[in-house]
Amino acid sequence: MSRDRTLRELGLGPTWKLRDARAAEEPVVAAVAPPATIPAAVPVEPALHAAALGVGDERRAAIAAMGWDELRDATNACRACPLCQQRKQAVLGVGDVEADWLFVGEGPGAEEDERGEPFVGQAGKLLDAMLAAIDLRRGDNVYIANTVKCRPPGNRTPEPDETAACWPFLARQIALIKPKLIVALGRPAAQTLLQTEVKIGAARGQLFEHGGIPVIVTYHPAYLLRNLPDKAKAWEDLCFMRATMRGL
Ligand code: URA
Repeated sequence: MSRDRTLRELGLGPTWKLRDARAAEEPVVAAVAPPATIPAAVPVEPALHAAALGVGDERRAAIAAMGWDELRDATNACRACPLCQQRKQAVLGVGDVEADWLFVGEGPGAEEDERGEPFVGQAGKLLDAMLAAIDLRRGDNVYIANTVKCRPPGNRTPEPDETAACWPFLARQIALIKPKLIVALGRPAAQTLLQTEVKIGAARGQLFEHGGIPVIVTYHPAYLLRNLPDKAKAWEDLCFMRATMRGL
């Protein structure tokens, strides 16, 4: 997708004016250098992480030993929290299982619940445009997952006990993929990965870590659809992600 079209789709056309031909080639990324070190490492011991979330040892150990097929079956059969009651299907994730990039959203919406793939609705279209803005494509060195695998009724924010119950699945996905960089889209993903209160506005632009893997947080695409002015900040975050990945 051309840069102009990408910016139009992100709603950034009027904000990001190209000043000269050189700027057109590499306009913003150069201005956003990744920090040389990770300044805000969060002390999360993986074992303590799940324990703190109140997830049973046996279930956690079983999930931690699963391969992709078992993981898919286990999420579909899961009854660990009330979200299973209204789902059509669990939505494990989509993409390259050896990806360098892992994007983590909140939870499936109606269309995702119907189709079994994350981010296929309006927010997904924006996520695809955001990926394209940094030359990424779903499925090509990119994996997309959610914090909870079953649709919260009415697309409400998942409750802490629901994210806790689902955490072993995401933890196993991270262990299998071994991404170089994790991008948390929105607060539930950021809080689950970083195990701390997170305000996206304050945390964006910093490099955190989860289990030794760098984590960047940014706004959820659904939030951006409702808050157009923050798309410019999302563009900065995308540039920060790309610069960070280049430095890894
Ligand atoms: N929002 C999310 O967080 N995930 C999806 O899969 C769709 C919308």
